[in-house]
Amino acid sequence: MIVEINNLKKSYHPGKLAVNDVSLSIDKGESLGLVGESGCGKSTLARCLLGVERIDEGSITFNGKPLTKASRKHLRDYRRNIQTVFQNPTASLNPKLKIRDSLLDPYLQFKDELQLEHFHFTSKKAFVEQLLETVELPVELGDRYPHELSGGQKQRVTIARAISIEPKLIVLDEPTASLDVLSQGAILELLASLQQTLGLSYLFISHDLAAVYQLCQRIAVMKEGELLDMFQKEDIYDSSRHAYTKELISIF
Ligand code: ADP
Ligand code: MG
Repeated sequence: MIVEINNLKKSYHPGKLAVNDVSLSIDKGESLGLVGESGCGKSTLARCLLGVERIDEGSITFNGKPLTKASRKHLRDYRRNIQTVFQNPTASLNPKLKIRDSLLDPYLQFKDELQLEHFHFTSKKAFVEQLLETVELPVELGDRYPHELSGGQKQRVTIARAISIEPKLIVLDEPTASLDVLSQGAILELLASLQQTLGLSYLFISHDLAAVYQLCQRIAVMKEGELLDMFQKEDIYDSSRHAYTKELISIF
């Protein structure tokens, strides 16, 4: 188990829980999809998991240790091992930095404690090229600025940055929602292949059940802050599915 969330509660306004008693865990090498309509609490859950939102109740454990009682070293280890890719790649990239410098940033932050298995750091140039090739981008893009790239290319850069320090888990919060349909499909394929080659775990958040179905081995369904259903992908048409899951299936 990489992360385990137990009975998590989070509210922004008294009396209204954005996340209401949610428990879930993510295994090594597993891709868990989290699906539900806009406003149901998916991003709040993700932000709690990333430690940028304070939780009201419950616990989050990483490698068996609760985050609330974590030492600085454990927190840093946690921060390195859980990377993110958000919906809007333009907002995630510093417009003043060349792509190569954005790509190098996580590595330079964590290089003293990194033991890379897949990537090799011989020089900055070679490292950047290896990252760009891994996400199927031309190496020349390293010298460009974000505004010179398409949305799909920028999202590939944020994915390259996330994998550069070989985290255990990547939280993908609607990573294809801002892209055109062609780029969406291509990004999902890239994510699937990276998961295989790098042995990554994903928490893939989307309002789109079809996308979640394509990428994930297990699917969790949220509504109004609550986790209603969680099942292996192959059990999606099982008669024991929650009525709300069946509703989502009927429109996908
Ligand atoms: P989702 O990602 O599924 O669309 P969110 O987690 O963004 O849902 O939102 C869940 C609920 O919490 C919504 O009612 C939303 O309006 C509210 N919410 C989210 N973020 C904040 C915030 N920073 N401050 C106040 N309310 C918020
Ligand atoms: Mg959201």
